[in-house]
Amino acid sequence: MSNDCIFCMILEGKIPSTKVYEDEFVFAFRDIHPMAPTHILVIPKEHIASADEITGKNSSYVAKIFEVIPKIAAAEGLANGYRVITNCGEDGCQSVKHLHFHLLGGRKLPETLA
Ligand code: AMP
Ligand code: ZN
Repeated sequence: MSNDCIFCMILEGKIPSTKVYEDEFVFAFRDIHPMAPTHILVIPKEHIASADEITGKNSSYVAKIFEVIPKIAAAEGLANGYRVITNCGEDGCQSVKHLHFHLLGGRKLPETLA
């Protein structure tokens, strides 16, 4: 855990969130500023700062996250598809420095982001 990380604070229950899924490794909650009808953030329960910090030691969290995403998508009714995004670093416009995957769906999303 990182003391100054808002997503670690969410994991510790110090900041409220709208939880949609939780297990031993993964936590998922609704984005506070949704960009689509479904906009969920899926995060590891260990503080990993970004995709740039994924290593052989912590990549099992990423595997667990991607096992969970189809379950959340199904529970959200995203049978027509969805998008998973992680922003990394300054150029990626990452604002929260705790690895997170945006799960977006519920409408036809734009073809390109950049
Ligand atoms: P990023 O720009 O990829 O780092 O995404 C960070 C996301 O976290 C943004 O979409 C924010 O709306 C979202 N966010 C920030 N604070 C909270 C919070 N307390 N609860 C839920 N979502 C949040
Ligand atoms: Zn954190």
